[in-house]
Amino acid sequence: MAETFSGSRGPFLEEPLLFEMDSPGQCGVDLPAPPEVSDRLGGLERTAPIGLPGLSEPAVVRHYTRLSQKNYGIDSVFYPLGSCTMKYNPRLNEKLARLPGLADIHPFQPISTVQGALELIDQTAHWLKTLTGMPAIALSPAAGAHGEFCGLMTIRAALDDRGEQRRRVLVPESAHGTNPASAAACGFTVDPIPANGRGRVDLAALKAKLGDDVAALMLTNPNTCGLFEDEILEIAEAVHRAGAFFYCDGANYNAIVGRVRIADLGIDVMHINLHKTFSTPHGGGGPGAGPTVLSAALAPFAPLPAVLHDQQGWRLVEHAGADAAKSCGRIKGFHGQFGVFARALAYMLSMGGDGLRQAAEDAVLNANYLLARLGGELTPSFAGPCMHEALFDDRFLKDSGVTTLDFAKALIDEGFHPMTMYFPLVVHGALLMEPTETESKATLDRFIGSVIGLARQARAGEAAAFKAAPVNTPRRRLDETLAARNPVLRWRPA
Ligand SMILES: *Cc1c(COP(=O)(O)O)cnc(C)c1O
Repeated sequence: MAETFSGSRGPFLEEPLLFEMDSPGQCGVDLPAPPEVSDRLGGLERTAPIGLPGLSEPAVVRHYTRLSQKNYGIDSVFYPLGSCTMKYNPRLNEKLARLPGLADIHPFQPISTVQGALELIDQTAHWLKTLTGMPAIALSPAAGAHGEFCGLMTIRAALDDRGEQRRRVLVPESAHGTNPASAAACGFTVDPIPANGRGRVDLAALKAKLGDDVAALMLTNPNTCGLFEDEILEIAEAVHRAGAFFYCDGANYNAIVGRVRIADLGIDVMHINLHKTFSTPHGGGGPGAGPTVLSAALAPFAPLPAVLHDQQGWRLVEHAGADAAKSCGRIKGFHGQFGVFARALAYMLSMGGDGLRQAAEDAVLNANYLLARLGGELTPSFAGPCMHEALFDDRFLKDSGVTTLDFAKALIDEGFHPMTMYFPLVVHGALLMEPTETESKATLDRFIGSVIGLARQARAGEAAAFKAAPVNTPRRRLDETLAARNPVLRWRPA
């Protein structure tokens, strides 16, 4: 960025902390002097200044407004982060989720005062069951990873009920890291399954690993290479023949919603990331929701609480008892991320079945457009067509001295959030791009122009420019290892 006489960069300031802007004596309010009162603290009163920074009201307003504009988000720019489904969240969803009758209620309110909220939860459950064709659902999981945990706890409870000591969980090498982590957290051991040359699960290798100690297979479909697992029916059959359960990681459900009924694939349990497929803004830690659909065999083991309707109206089953004797227990305080349910229900009802199917088709179309336009310049990892995301590896950078990381940093200078890097692990130096259905062809063309330009620049031997990138950001290359090992989380006066 060009230098200026005073160092001023207007809104492009590197924003200091409020404490660093301290101007002693300044104050944003004008309070009358406190009346003289006798001390009632018994000698514990403060003796030194409290250390709050002196700032005027406009200085504080500008500080927070500038910070708010530093967000790189889907409402301002294209965000092709693969696997994360960073799609636009229609404002209608926000409007409905913020209705006072939905936003201002409290989980400790008497059940008689939140009948509509319980019905909203049940409606959300109804449509998710309808879309997937699955008979039961647990709504309490707070995110995708939590849905995995919920599904595996349910499987564990079912195995305990059968008196079976199965403790091995099979997880493809391309799986999201949360899959093996969830399995381990539930007390299972993790056994990896290799991918075949087509980027799918190697069916023969899977069959060889099945045995009477296998509790479940955790499969992502479409998988993290952006490919549909086209042998899924054979996979389900083999898993069931071995007496194991079939868990599906449904984080990529956005590619097939309205097109594929999950129940038809032989899946016993699958989580749905509402914040991905059903449009809730996410990133920066949430909130999300990971409702988990269940087969009839697993339904009795679902976690609590559950929403029920009877003669008295809507109620919550909170404890294992007559209504839920075999439940795997409570996995979350209260009954899930209510605001996310409200958004998801608004999204489903406003889109309709045809609209949801169209969204899935457009997501797949956009990804295939990227694959087709970039396929000649970058190296696609597997033959297309793809589903909702396009996977490339770093062979196109061979001998250029440029790595996937350098390429991503250069994309920042082009004004784009980089794609997902180095994931999935089954290809070298992965670049995973997920455009989502809400991006226009004009936006995709601009992104493609930057990616192709950078690929040609890398091959032209301009590695030094890549090593220097990003140059347009207040912070350039960070020592990420040092930052992780030695984080400075607290401001101290100089
Ligand atoms: C996002 C994602 C998850 C984890 O979901 P969270 O909601 O982030 O916990 C799991 N698997 C895949 C394939 C994902 O993309």
